[in-house]
Amino acid sequence: MNLVFIGKQGVGKGTYAQKLSAEHGLPQISTGELLREEIKTGSDLGKKVEEIINRGELVSDELVAEMLKSRLSLDDAQKGFILDGFPRTVNQAKALDALLEKSGKKIQAVLNFVAPDSVLLERLTGRRTCKKCGTIYHTKNMPPKKEGICDKCGSELYQRDDDKEQAIKKRWQAYEEQTKPVLEYYRKQGKLEEIDASKEVSEIYPKIGEALSKRGLLG
Ligand code: AMP
Repeated sequence: MNLVFIGKQGVGKGTYAQKLSAEHGLPQISTGELLREEIKTGSDLGKKVEEIINRGELVSDELVAEMLKSRLSLDDAQKGFILDGFPRTVNQAKALDALLEKSGKKIQAVLNFVAPDSVLLERLTGRRTCKKCGTIYHTKNMPPKKEGICDKCGSELYQRDDDKEQAIKKRWQAYEEQTKPVLEYYRKQGKLEEIDASKEVSEIYPKIGEALSKRGLLG
């Protein structure tokens, strides 16, 4: 099962990907998380990436495509994966198709999560991420057992700089201009499923299962 999760920043696609990944043993591959790992290494590349991300802009197609290619070559991605935050441009979508084709694979379904801006803003400003393992929480909707501490690995939680309001507006603009055309790309391929993500996680999550079952991807 090779899936793509798409949605405007704040829609919670990372959270649903995390849950589906745990339930079905498929790796959740987040290009945002791979980039944040590069930043943590303190490399020159990481420093450049950090500036771009904090401005709320997109990193170059070449760089993310290269990172994704090496991540997809690892063992755990051979039986399937959930892409979270990739592709974000039509160029990336084409590069992904070309890459998968080489190993006789393809994307089976693309889930587009949709919710109004007011809901997204509330989710983003309350979002907290684990410094070590990247697990996502929300101060109100999905708090950790102990405030500021990751349930899974005990590390500190933090608020991403790009989750502050100024950067959010910039990221939404990038979404409108560069990512929306990706939906059309997959709609033409007949792979697009829309999921109403305006409610609680407990209501949204089962809809993912329904969409995948409908396509014969889940038993
Ligand atoms: P995310 O965690 O998915 O919200 O990604 C955080 C930031 O990383 C984005 O705002 C972009 O600056 C960068 N990024 C993540 N994935 C991509 C991608 N596929 N293409 C370009 N930039 C990306």
